[in-house]
Formats: sequence, structure tokens, C-alpha cells
Amino acid sequence: MNSRISDEFTNLNISRQRKYQLRMQRDKRCTECGAPAAQGSRCLEHLVKARERQRKKRGLKRRYLNTLSYKLEAVAA
Ligand SMILES: [Zn+2]
Repeated sequence: MNSRISDEFTNLNISRQRKYQLRMQRDKRCTECGAPAAQGSRCLEHLVKARERQRKKRGLKRRYLNTLSYKLEAVAA
């Protein structure tokens, strides 16, 4: 049987998605897929996806190669 999760976020007046994100953040996991977070709030895969999404949205031309997600990619490669 499924019982409802009861924690500090349960009674907040926010969306289910936001609660999921807050719980994942609390547990140091990726806010999108729940895998262990590399650093910050996402796993490496979603860190990169978020980066590329933002680049596109903001029309950025430069790549800041000292950024966390690039470094982690280099380590993973
Ligand atoms: Zn992820």
C-alpha cells in the first residue's frame, strides 16, 4: 500500500514537482532524475543538459571551460 510521504515539504503550498525537487536537493540527489548528484543540484548528465538548454535559450556564444559541468565531463571522459 502506498502511504503518503510526510515530511517538512508535505504541507507547503507548492506543486508536486517543486516538492520533488526540494526533497531531491535535501538528499543531495539530481532534481530531475533522482540519481546521486555530482555536485550542486544535478547529476552530470542533467548538469550538461541544463547547461546546453540555457546556452540555447540565452543565445550564448562563449563556453566557460572552468565551469563545473565541463570539468566533470573531462573527468568522466
Ligand atoms: Zn539527473
